[in-house]
Amino acid sequence: MERISWHQYFMAQSHLLALRSTCTRLMVGATIVRDKRIIAGGYNGSISGGKHCIDDGCYLIDDHCVRTVHAEINALLQCAKFGVPTEGAEIYVTHFPCLNCCKSLIQAGLKKVFYAQDYKNHEFAIDLFQQAGVEVKQVELEEMILDTNNKEKLMFTAQLLSKLEAQGLEGTEIEQLKEKANRLYTATS
Ligand SMILES: [Zn+2]
Ligand SMILES: [Zn+2]
Repeated sequence: MERISWHQYFMAQSHLLALRSTCTRLMVGATIVRDKRIIAGGYNGSISGGKHCIDDGCYLIDDHCVRTVHAEINALLQCAKFGVPTEGAEIYVTHFPCLNCCKSLIQAGLKKVFYAQDYKNHEFAIDLFQQAGVEVKQVELEEMILDTNNKEKLMFTAQLLSKLEAQGLEGTEIEQLKEKANRLYTATS
């Protein structure tokens, strides 16, 4: 059995949190880490007890949903609420932080930002992170980490395909099926 890396472990946690998002426009998750320990997590959602976008629709101003608190801010606020220091901490986010989150993360003393997907990466945010000496690095989640049966499934599909081939299925059809299987089992987007 392969052991997953810290990067993959924390990023997987953020992806899991993103599934709790209540705004359908963008599902984001964030995990704050200190000394290899998770100290807080957050997702894109309304204020506690507030109406959710998924129930009442988004509240749009200038094409931005203003109903929700961003995942990164929610994670920081969890630290504020319970008095957990964020100085020198690191954050794992599913998407590149917006400008407001960028400023808040810097101000809260975070030193490293790991993000999975590019998302309208703002030039000024990149500048600010750089000026503040915050390391920013893309860490994509390897999807097969969440699927422990991945290798077994791939083997099974390969076996089925070779049986079909032996039965005399067209070469091009087999190629297409192989291509699809490869995409399904190995995609890391
Ligand atoms: Zn919304
Ligand atoms: Zn944000």
